[in-house]
Amino acid sequence: MVDSQKTQLVEVDSEESNLYGFSLAEMEHFFRKLGEKPFRAKQLFQWIYKYGVDDFEEMTDFSKSLRIKLNSTAKLVRPNFCGRQSSTESEERTTQKLLFQLSDGQKIETVYIPDDARRTVCVSTQAGCAVGCTFCATGWMGFKRNLTVGEIVGQLGYVLKKVDPTISNIVFMGMGEPFLNYENVIRAAQIFSSESGMSIAAKHITISTSGIIPRIYQYADDGHSFNLAISLNATTSESRRSVMPITSKYSMEELLKAADYYIRSRRRTHLTLEYVLLAGVNDSDEDARRLKKMVSELGRCKLNVIPYNPIEGPSLKRPSEDRINAFLRKVSTIQSPLTLRRSRGQDIAAACGQLAVQN
Ligand code: SAH
Ligand code: SF4
Repeated sequence: MVDSQKTQLVEVDSEESNLYGFSLAEMEHFFRKLGEKPFRAKQLFQWIYKYGVDDFEEMTDFSKSLRIKLNSTAKLVRPNFCGRQSSTESEERTTQKLLFQLSDGQKIETVYIPDDARRTVCVSTQAGCAVGCTFCATGWMGFKRNLTVGEIVGQLGYVLKKVDPTISNIVFMGMGEPFLNYENVIRAAQIFSSESGMSIAAKHITISTSGIIPRIYQYADDGHSFNLAISLNATTSESRRSVMPITSKYSMEELLKAADYYIRSRRRTHLTLEYVLLAGVNDSDEDARRLKKMVSELGRCKLNVIPYNPIEGPSLKRPSEDRINAFLRKVSTIQSPLTLRRSRGQDIAAACGQLAVQN
C-alpha cells in the first residue's frame, strides 16, 4: 500500500493544501517540503483524526513559528454539516441522518445508527451512484462525482466530535458504490482503522459492493482486513438484471466466482451476502432454495436479508411478514449465520437504499 500511496503524493505549492484526508505518508512528504522534520506528520495525523482538532492554533506541541507556517501554507477543510433529522422510532436509541455540503455544493448524507450492542456510522462514498439499481433512491439520483478521502473521513470525523465519540462500527453503505471509488475508499478505511487515527478495528469496518468484479479480485489480492459484503439480491441472472442492470456487464456467474476467490484468499474471514427481499422478484421458495445452495457452496459466508424499504418511483413491494419469515426459514442453515436487517430510520428516509438529496 505504501507504494501506491507514494504515487499519489500531493505537491505543496503556493495554493493552500487541504491536509484533511492526507495519509501519514502524504503528511510526511508535506512536512519535508516545508523543511520540517517528518515526525511532525504523526503529531498532525493524531491531532486531526484522533483528537478531531481542525485549528492549527490548538496544536500545542507545535511551535508558534510552525503554526504560522502551517496557517499560511495549509488548511483543514471538512464537509460542511448543514442539518440533521432524528428518527422517532425509538426514544433512547435515535437513528440520525446528517446532511453535509461539499466545497462544490454537492450534498451527501451520513447515517448514525445506535443500538444496544454497537454505534454504527454508515458513510457515503460518492455523490449519487451510477449503478442504477431500481430499488435504490441513490441510484435514481444518478451519478454526480466521487468523494475525496477527506470527504469520506470527514463524515466520521463530524460524528465522533459532535454526535457520539464512542462509534464502534463503520459500514460503507451510504450513497454510492465504494468499489467505483476504490482508492479513496481504501485510504479512508485505513485512516478509520489506524491507531493514530480513528482507531476503529478493521474487523468492525464493512465495505459493501454491488459487484464490481475487477475490484473484488483486487481487494482480495491487496489483502485488506476490512469486511466485505456483496449485494447479491437475486438468485438468477434474469431477476438480478431486472433490478440491478450492472448484471449485464458483470454476470452473476462471474460474480459468484469472484466471491469464491475472495473467500479462498482469506483463511478465516467470512464474506457477507446481502439480499434485499422484493415481493414477486426474488422471494419465492425456489429463490430460497437456490440461495441456500449458493451460500453452502461458497462456504464461509454470512447472509444478510434486508426486506425492501419502499422508495418513490419503482413499483416494487416489500414482501408480507409471513412471506419474509417463510423465506428466512427456508434459507437458514446451521453453517451459515443468517441475519435479518430491519433497517432503522425509515421515518426519516435514512434506511438502506433511501438516501438521496436534491441539489
Ligand atoms: N453501493 C453499495 C453500498 C450501498 S447500498 C451496494 O450496493 O452494495 C447498501 C445496501 O443497501 C445494499 O446491500 C443494497 O442492496 C441495499 N439497498 C439498496 N436499496 C435498498 C432498499 N430500497 N431497501 C433495502 N435495501 C436496499
Ligand atoms: Fe448504487 Fe448501491 Fe444504490 Fe445500487 S444499491 S444504486 S450500487 S448505492
